Amino acid sequence: MRTLIFNANIVTGDGETILENHSLAIEGELITGIINIPYPNYDVADHMINAKGDFIIPGIINHHAHSVTIGPTSAGEAEPPLPKSRVRWELNQHLSEGSTTIVNMDGFTTMEEVGETRALTPMLVQTMSTHTPLHLEYARWLNRGGMREKHWLTTEDMIKQGALGIGEVGGLLDISYIPVEVQNKTGVQISLEEAAVLWEALMAQPSDEKTALDLMMKRGISSAMEGVKELVGQSGQRMKLAVEACCEAARVAGELGVPLAMHNIPSTKNQILDYVRDLKGLLIACHSNYAYKPQEAVEAARAVKKAGGWVDVHTGDFFRARQFFRNHATTLALLDEGLVDMISTDYIGGYWDSIPRVLEYAVDQKVINLTQAIALATGNVTRAIPNVAPNRGQIIEGKIADLTVLNKGRISDVRTVLISGKVVVDEGRIVPPRT
Ligand SMILES: [Zn+2]
Repeated sequence: MRTLIFNANIVTGDGETILENHSLAIEGELITGIINIPYPNYDVADHMINAKGDFIIPGIINHHAHSVTIGPTSAGEAEPPLPKSRVRWELNQHLSEGSTTIVNMDGFTTMEEVGETRALTPMLVQTMSTHTPLHLEYARWLNRGGMREKHWLTTEDMIKQGALGIGEVGGLLDISYIPVEVQNKTGVQISLEEAAVLWEALMAQPSDEKTALDLMMKRGISSAMEGVKELVGQSGQRMKLAVEACCEAARVAGELGVPLAMHNIPSTKNQILDYVRDLKGLLIACHSNYAYKPQEAVEAARAVKKAGGWVDVHTGDFFRARQFFRNHATTLALLDEGLVDMISTDYIGGYWDSIPRVLEYAVDQKVINLTQAIALATGNVTRAIPNVAPNRGQIIEGKIADLTVLNKGRISDVRTVLISGKVVVDEGRIVPPRT
């Protein structure tokens, strides 16, 4: 079957190229022709799609998402799985936002569960794994109810069966409980960077109470000292195991030569910078725009890139829920410095903004141009994670026809999505699968 998409502007995904007034032919599941006129004469295609001058981009590869499989949820904590109906809803959200490949970061999922999930969506569903011994031990100890006998696997086996790499790790080192404690005790809001300073000082062996107290005096929150010390102490064992689990994961990633996706926040920064020295291009610093002030994020990202690692930003929730992101100052600073390789949605409490929405904003703010923006969600991802989307990620003859059509005037408006040459979203609506 031949499909012709005519009257299109093609953004190829290489970060540079836009082919204006073109059309594109698909035979079966492959792109077979990129035609340098908008209205090819006497074409005999079975199926015609009028792109109406809009942008055709490669299908979006969302390389970091949660709650998109029927396996245990949450990164590292192994909460019970969501029901299938809910997972399908999540997958449909991503599909209608233009994604054609999605990577699960809930790392205890099995490949059988990935297989069952694939039956729920036309998207290519991929997974990372956290089946390293200490992550399993941590999940057993935490006992949140998501783990079954079948989840006791090894990362080596998961990789052999098709998992892409190790991730997401480092989420267990989140220290957002410290600002909550300080606010409860003193009414003062401290940042996550300040919390990281306190955490590192109090976790040090021997603990560096002077640094912690100096910071607390400066911020007028010394009355919270005992409470914070107690909390850090209580969580000390847990944190120690979490740190060791990350070190082990970094070592295994290096041995297997697979990507390591690591939570990049102020309290994990030092570890990331430590691991990236050995792992280089195998390390992905996830959501590098989260929990940092702009300048600190820039410094961390610059160090990651200098060592050869990859910098991801996540979309945040500024355009919707605004529970995590009050602005995009850090995202824009990173983009402006040319430090961002990739963008993903992550989960953000379940109300992430779509990738095209944030790219539209970044282009409007002139920190990046359209072709660079599209590459962050397409071509770049296939360079960073080699097997994430085989034979996809750019619009070139011979590639699989995973394509997303974005409104030229407003690229957050996803008009049409094709996967393997078939229309799966038509004028913004998901096409029900034929039975
Ligand atoms: Zn995540």
